[in-house]
Amino acid sequence: MLNRYPKLIFIDLETTGPNPAADFITEIGMVEVSAAGVSRWSALVNPQAPIPPFIQHLTGINDAMVRDAPSFAMLATEVQRRLQDGLFIAHNARFDYGFLRNAFKRLGMTLRCEALCTVKLSRKLFPHEIKHSLDALVARHGLSAQARHRALADADLLWQFWRKMEATLAPEALDDAVGQLLQRPSIPAQLEPELLDDLPDSPGVYVFYGENDVPLYVGRGQHLRQRVLTHFPDHPSHRDAQLARAVRRLEWHETAGEIGAQLLEAQLQRRLRPAHGVPPERDVCSWQLQAAPDGGSRPVLVYASGVDFGRSERLYGLFNSRSKAEMALQSLVDQHALCPALAGLEARDDSGQACSAHASGRCRGACIGNEAPQQHQARLEQALAALKLKPWPYVGPIGMLETGPDGRSDVHVVDNWSYLGTVRDERDLWDILEQAPALSAFDVDTYKTVTRALLLGKLQVHPLSARKIAAPIRLAQLRK
Ligand SMILES: [Zn+2]
Repeated sequence: MLNRYPKLIFIDLETTGPNPAADFITEIGMVEVSAAGVSRWSALVNPQAPIPPFIQHLTGINDAMVRDAPSFAMLATEVQRRLQDGLFIAHNARFDYGFLRNAFKRLGMTLRCEALCTVKLSRKLFPHEIKHSLDALVARHGLSAQARHRALADADLLWQFWRKMEATLAPEALDDAVGQLLQRPSIPAQLEPELLDDLPDSPGVYVFYGENDVPLYVGRGQHLRQRVLTHFPDHPSHRDAQLARAVRRLEWHETAGEIGAQLLEAQLQRRLRPAHGVPPERDVCSWQLQAAPDGGSRPVLVYASGVDFGRSERLYGLFNSRSKAEMALQSLVDQHALCPALAGLEARDDSGQACSAHASGRCRGACIGNEAPQQHQARLEQALAALKLKPWPYVGPIGMLETGPDGRSDVHVVDNWSYLGTVRDERDLWDILEQAPALSAFDVDTYKTVTRALLLGKLQVHPLSARKIAAPIRLAQLRK
């Protein structure tokens, strides 16, 4: 296997933080192993950004140490030359590889080499072990650590781990494990192979486009990369194969978390109307209790195109069609022994005739005066209560702050159960509020996502009553 690579590069980076797109490299350490022997190389890198105290404490690399160090731009050619034709071996390889790729990208350069992750390698070789951190490897295999969390020392630990494996395992066992790990997931040939490296692990939304940039599919995932790859399995279904043939381009949007991904996915599905995976647009309906001539009230089916669901009272349930709405109401009527005539499911005249359900005892007889109208009315409202829609509980728009696992935070702007957009910068917040329609139209997907999020208390909510505020709201205030 190793004949395939003229050299092995055990590599480790120190950085200013966890995010390859937003943080910077502060140190690179490499142990290069080839037929010519073993050589070590390391360099401090000026990140041109302050190093957070926590990271300074962890790595021992502080601002003063990197002040006079070369920037990555000055080291890039050297790093590229060293990586050329080598097998890139790192602990959590996607982290180090992602950081380097981004650093090269900022300079208009590309990094492309095969990467092997020693966390995955350890997991494959020792599946019964639970821990595969570098500290766990040091302890388990008796490696000797010089200065943990410095780049060259950590890279050297990986080289020690490798030699341990070579010394203790049958050569085929190591070869097989490495060979399996290096198998790249396959994506359609029309897509850029770099896509696999560029797709982030973060939550977000993706769009597949086909010939002539026609939107084919909009989806979302907690882990974008893994989610996108599920469309291209080794044994594709008919639909997978269809998509793989048709796809020409992939676009994605990272979000801080799941709520933002849900809101954006629904918005893009509405806006792009992709060819697959989205049900046809429907005028949603709901039962509204409206006053009846007899002094009580009856459920009347109303449509979102005619009634503002966010600002109306006494609405029950959201349905895609009249028949679904009637089925739901019928089942409540049956369950609670209500009168289908008084519930509006049967035509009713003034002849005082019993409803169809009375003869079989399924109606307690409100239709023929055997049950007091007020009593029936109270039972009907009680039966409907579980379906009750929540009117928009705020005066105007709100900002919902969502913070993701990597510390990124988004502010979702919602008004009248209508999603207006997501911002990370206060100027954008102001733009969204300025551009929002005077009356935002109720939206079912937003209603479902936001009521669930509010119910779970997952997000911080900040009223933004825009039309009363003279100056832009500061995001910093929201983030407090
Ligand atoms: Zn009846």
